[in-house]
Parts: sequence; C-alpha cells; structure tokens
Amino acid sequence: MSLIKQPIIGIVSPCFNEEENVKSTASKLTNLLSDLIQRNIISEKSILILVDDGSVDNTWNLINEQAHKNSKIKGLKLSKNFGHQNALLAGLFNFNNDVDALISIDADLQDDIQVIEEMIVKFKNGADTVYGIRNERKTDTFFKRTTAQLFYKLMLLMKVNLLYNHADFRLCSKRVIQSLEGYNETNLFLRGIIPSIGFKSDTVTYNRLDRSAGETKYTLGKMLSFAWDGITSFSSFPLKLVSTLGFLIFIFCIIMLFYALYALVIGSTVPGWLSTVLPMYFLGGIQLFCFGIIGEYVGKIYSEVKHRPRFIIEEKI
Ligand code: UDP
Ligand code: MG
Repeated sequence: MSLIKQPIIGIVSPCFNEEENVKSTASKLTNLLSDLIQRNIISEKSILILVDDGSVDNTWNLINEQAHKNSKIKGLKLSKNFGHQNALLAGLFNFNNDVDALISIDADLQDDIQVIEEMIVKFKNGADTVYGIRNERKTDTFFKRTTAQLFYKLMLLMKVNLLYNHADFRLCSKRVIQSLEGYNETNLFLRGIIPSIGFKSDTVTYNRLDRSAGETKYTLGKMLSFAWDGITSFSSFPLKLVSTLGFLIFIFCIIMLFYALYALVIGSTVPGWLSTVLPMYFLGGIQLFCFGIIGEYVGKIYSEVKHRPRFIIEEKI
C-alpha cells in the first residue's frame, strides 16, 4: 500500500521486569531510528514506545527517565501485568494514529534489529505486514528450542494458521492495526490473527540472538497457556478429534458386540465379565476426556462474553 517516501515509524517494545535491558535497548533503538532518519529513510517524527507491563522492579522509573531525556521515546505503563500480547496491543492501539507503521520487538533484543531497515524498505515497497522469521536458534537453550519447535508443530497439527518460526517481531501498517482493532475477542492471539487479516505481506529472515540481559519472562506456565490459547482461539480441531474418537469407539463397540455374540454361539464365554467391565472403564474415560475438552471451550466462551478490557493504562508519557 504505502509508497510513502519517509514513513513515520513507531517501534513498540513490551517490558516486564526488564530493568537490566531498558536503558541499552532504548539507546540501541533510538540510535537506529536516528540513523534511519539521517539517511532520509524514515520521518523524523518516528518514535520508540516502551510499554511497562506491570513490572515490579525499576523498569518504569527507567522508562520515565529515558522518555524525559529523549523526546523520541514514549512510555506507557499498564496498571498490572497483563501479559506480553496485551502489553503489545496496548502499545499498538495507543500510538497507531501517530504513525504510518508499527514494528513490535521484544525488549531483550533477541530479534536482530539490523533487519528493521529491510522491514521498512519492504513496507515502502508496498507490503502491509512484514514478518520477521527466525533462521536459527543456536543461542536458545535446548529447552527453549525444543518447546518452541513443539509449539509450531502442535499449531500446524491443530490447524492453526501461522508462520513457522515467526514470533512477535513484525511490522504492521496503520491499516493492519486499524483492522486488528475490529477483532473484539479478549484473547487476541496475534501470531494467528495478523496473517488472517490479509493485505500484502512479506518476510525478512534473521538469526535469533542471545537475550541481552536478565532471564526469560516467559515461564513454562505462560508458554503452555499461550499455546493452549492459540489452539482454542483458532481451531475447533480438538472438538473434531473428540467426535472422531467417539465415532471410532462406536465402531469398536459394534465389532465387540458381534464378537460377543459369536463367542456366545460357540459357547466359549466367561459370562458377563468382558461385556460389563471393559465398556465401563473405557466409556468412563472417554466421557471424562470429552467433557474436559468441551469444558475448555465453554470456559473460553465464558471469558469472551464478559468482554473484559485487555489492558488498563495507568500512565502515558
Ligand atoms: N513480557 C511482557 N509481559 C509478560 C512476559 C513478557 O511484556 O508477562 C515481555 C518481556 O519483557 C520481553 C518479551 O515480552 O520483552 C518477550 O519475553 P521473553 O524475552 O522473556 O520471552 P522469550 O524470548 O524467552 O520467549
Ligand atoms: Mg526473549
């Protein structure tokens, strides 16, 4: 779309307990912006948005300090920890009107900021969304690599439409973010929703780097709930799985019935045992399994119909 000569770019970075990173991240990103501005690639109105996702350490004070030192830096403080995805949304939705395109990047700069320029060039050439794709993850721990791989495989298996090895490092044009605002579900799974919005898209690839400082803020619990949200908000495949399972068991029962009748005719049965005990356990287990999955979806419906806000802003600089 764009074809704007010097677009106004906003870089959004969610920060949760990132006191070790805020300062260096802010300076690296503002230096990058200044460089791009100087070379007339982007507008001088471009900004960096740091979103504090309810940190309990010194993160907000540092953001505040940086924002007062450098007018390019904007700060947004959420009233509590709303999670990475919601912090990102807060940044995107709050500054969308001030820019032509927004780039999201994690505050630990594990995603290579060197490709940001390429993203902007592709945006200028007409792409509305530019996805950052991780080439290799050598620097990730074995655990992170395996769980991440499992995550993408599981998503594909569950028919969730997303880009392999693309996380939340991407550029979105203003109109993509505007379209995103029309999605009213509370649990917005960005990696799945953004590709479903449409418009022209492109990709850039890079090698994933080491966390610049501090520990991962994505605990195993957060990762699991993120994957589960991805599946249940995008696919009814688990439900289909349940009905298929139910059907197979039905067929199996019919075969068993014929077998039992046959055994009865040739007189080789221990009367009543198999036909009572086996189905009891079998069906009991299956029923619980099905209830569990249906329950998860009902739970999702429950949380969606409440239409609770995805984030609450405490302060804006
Ligand atoms: N993050 C956040 N809220 C959270 C958890 C994480 O805003 O509840 C931020 C975090 O500060 C970082 C980004 O999300 O900028 C990605 O988190 P992290 O680097 O810990 O995840 P990983 O790269 O290990 O998957
Ligand atoms: Mg990280």
